[in-house]
Amino acid sequence: MSRNEELFARAQRSIPGGVNSPVRAFRSVGGTPRFLSRAQGAYTWDADGKRYVDYVGSWGPAILGHAHPEVVEAVQRAAVDGLSFGAPTEREIEMAEALIALLPSMEMVRLVSSGTEATMSAIRLARGFTGRDAIIKFEGCYHGHADCLLVKAGSGLLTFGNPSSGGVPADFAKHTVVLDYNNAAQLEEVFAARGSEIAAVIIEPVAGNMNLVRPSQAYMDTLRALCTKHGAVLIFDEVMTGFRVGIKGVQGLYNITPDLTTLGKIIGGGMPVGAFGGRRDIMEKIAPLGAVYQAGTLSGSPVAVAAGLATLRLIQQPDFYETLTTRTTAFANGMAAAAQRHGQAFSAQAVGAMFGLYFSAQVPQSFADVMASDRERFNRFFHLMLDAGHYLAPSAFEAGFVSAAHTEADIAATIAAADQAFAQLG
Ligand code: PMP
Repeated sequence: MSRNEELFARAQRSIPGGVNSPVRAFRSVGGTPRFLSRAQGAYTWDADGKRYVDYVGSWGPAILGHAHPEVVEAVQRAAVDGLSFGAPTEREIEMAEALIALLPSMEMVRLVSSGTEATMSAIRLARGFTGRDAIIKFEGCYHGHADCLLVKAGSGLLTFGNPSSGGVPADFAKHTVVLDYNNAAQLEEVFAARGSEIAAVIIEPVAGNMNLVRPSQAYMDTLRALCTKHGAVLIFDEVMTGFRVGIKGVQGLYNITPDLTTLGKIIGGGMPVGAFGGRRDIMEKIAPLGAVYQAGTLSGSPVAVAAGLATLRLIQQPDFYETLTTRTTAFANGMAAAAQRHGQAFSAQAVGAMFGLYFSAQVPQSFADVMASDRERFNRFFHLMLDAGHYLAPSAFEAGFVSAAHTEADIAATIAAADQAFAQLG
């Protein structure tokens, strides 16, 4: 028995499914999850001492690579001064000012400890601000695990949603309308029928939780215009895409100003941080200024904020995103070319330092397209790559990430391994 197998067996006796977040259990791809013991730069090592080139990056935060020395040093220095105060600190102001300077749509910002808290709080705020209850989300987008966001489509376009998780009362889900991603006609229809009821639309403006799906510019323009016309708060959930697709997020790429933005992952540099922010008139509705309650014992944690500030400083180096984007695009193109050499129905794309690999001939435009890809083939490919020391996300429905620590040689090695894996897939 390998050490990974031993640990998995042991973990399952005390932790549900052996994991503290479901995707880690490898349910979708089968096999034994790797218990990681260490990570540095572009690499992780598992409990058996095997090294992997890592394309998960802790699901997004590790844009500088793992354990960047300047981030680790910032954490160590902050820790010595106290782990948590539950009182305001100067560092939090620096963090808020840094986020506001980088994302001008954010006029004010509040720090929380996870992406889930950020989206949950943004929705409560949008409801408090508008005095409306209904929200719109899109099938295939994930925004964390707040009750109102664990919802799937109801029976008809205009009907409100049903819970997609046990433990979510139907009464909570009924305020969420679930629509198709990247479908402007549908959005127009729903706003025409119910526009005055909609408090907010929340969207992954480039989706990374149904593999990588890019909406059209026209769709995003329509979304912005409809929210403005009907007084609905447009929430860009950039927990994954913020500082991942580029220094200005998807809002910069598409040149759209959301009313609220949610952030997480990269802004914590690997420590637990989330944030939500946006229009001052909306943000001023939050307690203690306004009537919408939101709080957190560890919000603005001095250690986590130190990691975030160090990360935000490093990603502003000249050419940081140019290099990363070039490398990620080369990775996606190299993977697609390798697949083509072996006659696979496969496609790939990159947006900034995010990529999608698809076992389908065309790059998907919607959740339905993604669902139509060959999952069984992905699962075999995943395990061939893992055995060869290349760690892709353990699901066909997740985007992947390249970090600044990935060298051209790392990427070439992964493409070479993929070439062999495609040959073996037949
Ligand atoms: N929004 C998006 C777009 C995400 O990708 C995630 C996490 N993958 C979340 C929200 C939730 O963040 P967290 O896991 O930190 O609660």
